[in-house]
Amino acid sequence: MAKQVRVRIAPSPTGFAHVGNAYAALFNYAFVKKNNGTFVLRLEDTDRKRHVEEAEEVLYAGLSWLGFSWDEGPDKGGPYAPYRQSERLERYKERVGQLIKDGLAYEDEGAVRFKNPGQEVSWNDLIHGEIKFPGDQITDFVILKSDGFPTYNFAVVIDDIDMEISHVIRGEEHISNTPRQLALYKAFGVTPPQFSHYSTLRNSEHKKLSKRRDPVDLRLYREQGYLPEALVNFLCLLGWSHPEGKEVFGLEEFIEKFTLERVRKAGPIFDTKKLDWLNGLYIRQMDNVALASTLNKFISADTSAQFLLQVVPIIKERINKLSDVENLLRFFWEKPQIGREMFENEKSVEFISFALEALRGTENWTLESVNEALAQRVKNKGYKTGEFFMCLRLAVTGQKITPPLNESMVILGKEEVLVRLETAQKVFLT
Ligand code: GLU
Repeated sequence: MAKQVRVRIAPSPTGFAHVGNAYAALFNYAFVKKNNGTFVLRLEDTDRKRHVEEAEEVLYAGLSWLGFSWDEGPDKGGPYAPYRQSERLERYKERVGQLIKDGLAYEDEGAVRFKNPGQEVSWNDLIHGEIKFPGDQITDFVILKSDGFPTYNFAVVIDDIDMEISHVIRGEEHISNTPRQLALYKAFGVTPPQFSHYSTLRNSEHKKLSKRRDPVDLRLYREQGYLPEALVNFLCLLGWSHPEGKEVFGLEEFIEKFTLERVRKAGPIFDTKKLDWLNGLYIRQMDNVALASTLNKFISADTSAQFLLQVVPIIKERINKLSDVENLLRFFWEKPQIGREMFENEKSVEFISFALEALRGTENWTLESVNEALAQRVKNKGYKTGEFFMCLRLAVTGQKITPPLNESMVILGKEEVLVRLETAQKVFLT
């Protein structure tokens, strides 16, 4: 019987969930679901300086928001607990002791070094194919620091052995660590897992995403109103090519079609323009009622559910992020600041007076009646439709870019529209 598939991600709880954590989760999740395996979340939390309270919760929340779940982990427990490296220190010491006893490691200024046999190392990487490192590039290396904490290369191997990890799927920055890890497997007489290294995410300048330079905190995306489905779809596109060349697909389809062979080898560029485009598509696919209730969180004003349901159809096509609505809709709850200088067209005051008269006489304040009150009469007057409506838009909203104007005026209500037009008219008369 084939060995059970067990994969893991091993993030460090640094205080936020990084886009790179999501990227690692994505590949591992797809692979493990496809192979009916077990997904382990393990924490590399031995860097005490970086330990941040609640950091674990933030990490779990970020990954869960995107739809990832794990079978074993510090929060879930499991047969190989503990899943926090900080709780496994005794285990590392025990394994270091064994290497020393076997003559494969030695103490050096309070630390312990692994005695590297210096043999050529190679492995068949499931993404890159054969990778080889000449023996002279692998020197003795520290496995236990003088403070009693293990190094990454040592702890990761002990954990992967103990947790019976069958496949290690991680970023290419760990390719250079793999020879040391393979040397440790050999020393312990254990068959190593199969390794795969995907390309690391880069920014538009082709530099590795960094938390100082780039927006990498998943909370930023959530706060700006990116939908988790859109972000996941975007991450899939960055790292993998759909066999039918499709660009829009969900996590389920990704899992179904996923193979490590189709993981891209070239450095993927985290280009938020593409993400915005995808997010817009996902917003347009949302049901209006669901979208209305989601929008509530992105609007500073205290608006009614009815108002939100009214505005959804007129903004749905115009936003790429949910947070775009605040600027787009602000004129509904904030009267525009009108100044004469805003109106470039010399006919502005004539347009405004004309609109006032036409709208005052409109009885049923519906889209049909507002359209009727304006469109034909504007033409009959010989006004240029574009010029007229731009002036009206400025007078009613104070902005050049708004949702469709007549629809917006219907929602604003007749009284409010007339008040705004009168205000605008006054700036020309004073
Ligand atoms: N904490 C490491 C990382 O997130 C884990 C590396 C590994 O998967 O071996 O890059």
